[in-house]
Amino acid sequence: MTQNRIYNFNAGPAALPLPVLEEIQESFLNFAGSGMSITEISHRSKWFDDVINDAAERTKRLLNLDNRFKILFIQGGASMQFCMIPMNLLPEGRSADYVNTGTWSTKAIKEVKVLGKNVNIAGSSEDKNFSYIPKDLQFSRDAAYVHITSNNTIKGTQWAQFPDTQGIPLMADMSSDIMSRPFDTAPFGVIYAGAQKNIGPSGICMVIIRDDMLERVPENLPAMLKYTTYSEKNSMYNTPPCFTIYTVQLVLKWLEETVGGLDKMEEINNKKAELLYSLFDSSSFYRGTAEKDSRSKMNVTFRLPDEELEKAFIQKALDNGFGGLKGHRSVGGCRASIYNATGLDAIEALVDFMKTFEKNNG
Ligand SMILES: *Cc1c(COP(=O)(O)O)cnc(C)c1O
Repeated sequence: MTQNRIYNFNAGPAALPLPVLEEIQESFLNFAGSGMSITEISHRSKWFDDVINDAAERTKRLLNLDNRFKILFIQGGASMQFCMIPMNLLPEGRSADYVNTGTWSTKAIKEVKVLGKNVNIAGSSEDKNFSYIPKDLQFSRDAAYVHITSNNTIKGTQWAQFPDTQGIPLMADMSSDIMSRPFDTAPFGVIYAGAQKNIGPSGICMVIIRDDMLERVPENLPAMLKYTTYSEKNSMYNTPPCFTIYTVQLVLKWLEETVGGLDKMEEINNKKAELLYSLFDSSSFYRGTAEKDSRSKMNVTFRLPDEELEKAFIQKALDNGFGGLKGHRSVGGCRASIYNATGLDAIEALVDFMKTFEKNNG
């Protein structure tokens, strides 16, 4: 059956490591000797406690987080965090700084405004259709926090280095590049990521929150929208999506034990991205859409000479076993999402295919 699997370049939900899928298959009918499937056990059981705690411990080790950070699992996707962050962490009368680098940042900013709270745009790349990461940032001295999107899944840009906010807590939507590289976590108040790009299936958002942020949470919020509800109940105030969290645990185990951690993962990811970008740089047929110093190592966006050729390219690719290369419907063009689980072999095969396609159509 594994012979029929395609090279999966989907943007999200996206490819999962094959050993993870195999382990799920193996354990599916009888999880950890329980005589039940992970989809049948109680979230109040010792079995599930071990799963969720191991996922949190592995996250702390992989990202080298100190004890101030708590790992929460919250439903509602990354999109729910767009409102939870200002509801919980932006006190009345204060304002927050947002850097607008594309579709997801724009949505995050909109939610602050819906709540009637004050938002200051500290930087934006909207003037050039979000094709770069802005360098000229104007932070307000009294901002409650600074919010960024570390990797822009749709526009294909990524922060190579995070901005220096001079002590203002950073909030980052890392949905599409969490666990793709190591970084200094000290400046961050909150890091969040919808699981379905780089760490699991859809259904959960991982929220990494520093304890001084938890102190900001106001009392008068609904239980399900309050970070402290999750931190006090180990993310089990209500029933969590057990299967999704189990898969996240297995992906993190694969990252630690098979890949060998985030330094190794970054090395591989650098090689993968380099293969595609060097093809663009040596070709007049494929054109990357992001400015060079802002290129994403996770979502590689590109155009062909015209839309007819793009259509033919995406179809021909599908016929040859390469899926998910169509750009987001809002921008068109092509996109190869090359998250952690998409191996170097897949990129090598894609680059070969692209060279042949150029030869035949260029
Ligand atoms: C996919 C994505 C989202 C939306 O995630 P949901 O889990 O569907 O809410 C938000 N931000 C970024 C950067 C994304 O890539």
